[in-house]
Amino acid sequence: MRSARDIARGVAAREFSAESVTREALGVIVRENSRVNAFTQVFHDFAIEQARRVDEDVAAGKPAGPLAGVPIALKDNICLSHGRTTCASRMLENYHSPFDATAARKLINAGAVVVGKTNLDEFAMGSSTEHSIFGPTRNPRDVTRVPGGSSGGSAAAVAAGMVPVAIGSDTGGSIRQPAAFCGLVGVKPTYGRVSRFGLVAYASSLDQIGPLARDCADAALVLDVLCGKDDHDATSADLPPPASLANVDEVLPGLVLGVPTQAWSPANHAGVTTALESSIAAYKKLGAKVIDIDLPLSDYAVAAYYIVAPAEASSNLARFDGVRYGRRAEGAKDLTDMLCKSRREGFGPEVRKRIMLGTHVLSSGYYDAYYTTALKVRRRVKDDFDAAFRAGCHAVLMPTTPGPAFAIGEKIGDALAMYMEDVYTVGVNLAGLPALSIPAGSMGASAAGGACVNLPIGVQLVGRAFDEARLMRIARMLERATDFAPAHAGGA
Ligand code: GLN
Repeated sequence: MRSARDIARGVAAREFSAESVTREALGVIVRENSRVNAFTQVFHDFAIEQARRVDEDVAAGKPAGPLAGVPIALKDNICLSHGRTTCASRMLENYHSPFDATAARKLINAGAVVVGKTNLDEFAMGSSTEHSIFGPTRNPRDVTRVPGGSSGGSAAAVAAGMVPVAIGSDTGGSIRQPAAFCGLVGVKPTYGRVSRFGLVAYASSLDQIGPLARDCADAALVLDVLCGKDDHDATSADLPPPASLANVDEVLPGLVLGVPTQAWSPANHAGVTTALESSIAAYKKLGAKVIDIDLPLSDYAVAAYYIVAPAEASSNLARFDGVRYGRRAEGAKDLTDMLCKSRREGFGPEVRKRIMLGTHVLSSGYYDAYYTTALKVRRRVKDDFDAAFRAGCHAVLMPTTPGPAFAIGEKIGDALAMYMEDVYTVGVNLAGLPALSIPAGSMGASAAGGACVNLPIGVQLVGRAFDEARLMRIARMLERATDFAPAHAGGA
């Protein structure tokens, strides 16, 4: 599979058709999806229809969009008027959205061809894509392991060469962690950069939509299309898109990176520490100054996140009651019984747990002890990052995850172990900052049957608010100076 940039350029120049590219992608999906289970739905006819429209427009001399003919997959919590928007939940199994999310509309208007919807942890709650009514998605690099989550389907689709780029959502790491596990670039934009209109809300003050791609330039291309003010989302920022692709190949002179003390946690897997060290060495070789910083409040970020996110989720998910939205249970004896049954049948155990947690921390006797305290921590997590930026850092460099992709089933029964997956990512959402994960090496591990596999490891770069263009350039410097990215299925 060619890069998204090559596809858009070739389709615009009429070197090949959007239809031929789309058929090729659909062919790979048919071959690969039974192995990795990345898609919840594949839109064969709809994709060909969209591709033909792009070809007709190009033939008619209309200006080709920046994503002309690029096959793309959408996480199944992003509304599309075609097909269903399931959130991988029994609750929305048959939900047909009457409208397109702004992000989906922007992609389609830019010429992208939506080939299907991808698997996720139910309502985006999870770090492994195991909590899904469609079954777990598998990591294409080792199918006994998870692809990360909750945008695991999008990551697996790109890593398996089914699509050059895919869209995820990130509330506490759900784009960056799957990118790290699958050897991809994944970008969480600044809160407010991308409209959330039509993204099924998990935690509204943390959610952002962003791209997963094989390299920084493809990620920048898609990011620029996604960004912008939207009248349907009052939290979307009134700023022009970052134009991050334009200068992505330019090296940044005078680059200063901060590495937090907390990045060297003894809980890290050895391969993660090595990846961080090699990234620092590579940046130093490029002339960057790397300084030590401190993010003391990051030790409390997971605790604060697992109060704020469930609190918002408990409120957001109240609409799924079998009346306003969602599956309605049969045979209830009265209204209360119907509401209870519908919610009990519709939600899986992780979602139920979060709703109960969120309701508890917002209840009158506990609100101050939990929720207000978590908000104070949130503020101070942001202050820590701001101090690093004031000290001159253009970005903060740290691991994306404490370890590589873990085995399917390994953490599903251990909520704390699963939540600790998010230790490096959730602080960024609490602070509302832009961040990305980029491949930074790999480590050998044993696969089923005793074979050895190479598992990708990612490092994370966190930028100043609305500074995506510079962040993408910083990441691209590392990408171009090293060969950390794994060889990709279907060729790079
Ligand atoms: N793993 C985190 C959670 O379970 C983050 C999920 C996300 O970013 N959507 O909440």
